[in-house]
Amino acid sequence: MDAQERQAREGVVAAARDLDAMGLNRGTSGNVSCRFGGGLLITPSGVPTADLTPEGIVPMGLDGTYPEGLKPSSEWRFHRDILAARPEVGAVVHAHPIYSTAFALCGKAIPAVHYMIAAFGGPDVRCAPYAPYGTEALSRLALEALEGRSCCLLANHGMIAAGSDLRRALWLAQELETLCQQYAVALQIGAPQILSDAEITETVERFRGYGLNAGTGGKSAT
Ligand code: 13P
Ligand code: ZN
Repeated sequence: MDAQERQAREGVVAAARDLDAMGLNRGTSGNVSCRFGGGLLITPSGVPTADLTPEGIVPMGLDGTYPEGLKPSSEWRFHRDILAARPEVGAVVHAHPIYSTAFALCGKAIPAVHYMIAAFGGPDVRCAPYAPYGTEALSRLALEALEGRSCCLLANHGMIAAGSDLRRALWLAQELETLCQQYAVALQIGAPQILSDAEITETVERFRGYGLNAGTGGKSAT
């Protein structure tokens, strides 16, 4: 492994640790990948975050091949399919954070109750219908739910955030969980007001230059 690959593997381990530290993930749930070379680097399946090492990260081709003896995340299909279908995406984070997952358990999309929804590319964050974990069906449904968006919920499961790099994917995951928490509390207080599509379209444009979105350029949804 050369220095560049080692650094990329360390980045994947650090992102998985950050997910735990930010309270977005627990135990062995969730997984992280980033584009590397012509393929990707992805966390191994079923390994507690504290036990992750750069050596344990699994290199994978976009054709889904990986070295014998290694076991990539069971969700390698949607990681691979997102990276293959979305050239602007450089990293994918999947987690089961409490509030995002609570809405996913109810099969509910997140509407434009806060202007921060624009950070995800449009006036809602969709919830993909249920399919068993690790399946091609789940990958297909996730890709559909991510159309024009950087994040989606997965019914009865969790969420996905796709960013131009690991830092941005983590930021999006944290922003989505925050929005879901705010929405959950607002629903207990009353009827949250939904912003218009026109309002969100304008905010999506302004967001292209904001914070970790700045510099990603073009029509990227990340
Ligand atoms: P892995 O441990 O195989 O990555 O699976 C965790 C998960 O969240 C499955 O959806
Ligand atoms: Zn999962």
